[in-house]
Amino acid sequence: MHIKSAEFVMSNSDVAKCPKNKLPEYAFIGRSNVGKSSLINMLMQRKSLAKTSGRPGKTQLINHFLINKNWYLVDLPGYGYARVSKKAKKTFQKFITNYFEKRKQLVSAFVLVDCRHEPQPIDLEFMQYLGEGQIPFSIIFTKGDKLKPNALTRNIEAYKTKLLEQWEEIPNYFITSSTNAMGRDELLGYIGEINQS
Ligand code: GDP
Repeated sequence: MHIKSAEFVMSNSDVAKCPKNKLPEYAFIGRSNVGKSSLINMLMQRKSLAKTSGRPGKTQLINHFLINKNWYLVDLPGYGYARVSKKAKKTFQKFITNYFEKRKQLVSAFVLVDCRHEPQPIDLEFMQYLGEGQIPFSIIFTKGDKLKPNALTRNIEAYKTKLLEQWEEIPNYFITSSTNAMGRDELLGYIGEINQS
């Protein structure tokens, strides 16, 4: 997919106030520092469409970007747990779950994980949450340039093994790097194909 335009539209914390039209949207989410802003800027070939660490940004908001005037890229805040009861039952922040449970325009989520790290409970729990809600998602392994090819393959294989404890099949996944644009064509091609189908 060729990116002809990428415009910031709005930020808010209330799903009811998100854009009202019916354009398809794709949401990017992960723990803070996973490389989400860098990935969005890389995909859109913009230096600072999404804010990157060190620059105070709208990190706690739902950010909509209109791409090619026909789909939305949604930059969601880093998730964490909200402890809601004395039993320390863990849930994700309410406005994030509201977004996933109410936003009908959402076509797919992308859950970002750092390719260098072992599977983290919060990421696995978030994928579980999406799966239980039947919300389609892919995994994006970020910072692929930080590992040598062998180590990268080893880490991805280890991640897959862990996922198979939880899933019958490995979810769709991509490996990206914001410094050398690894994965860009695959990821944009994937979104383009869904949008056309
Ligand atoms: P966010 O908090 O998820 O939006 O993460 P950022 O995009 O701000 O990235 C966090 C840090 O990781 C920054 O110092 C980035 O420069 C660095 N980073 C992000 N993506 C990559 C990548 O693909 N490769 C490398 N080498 N560094 C990255």
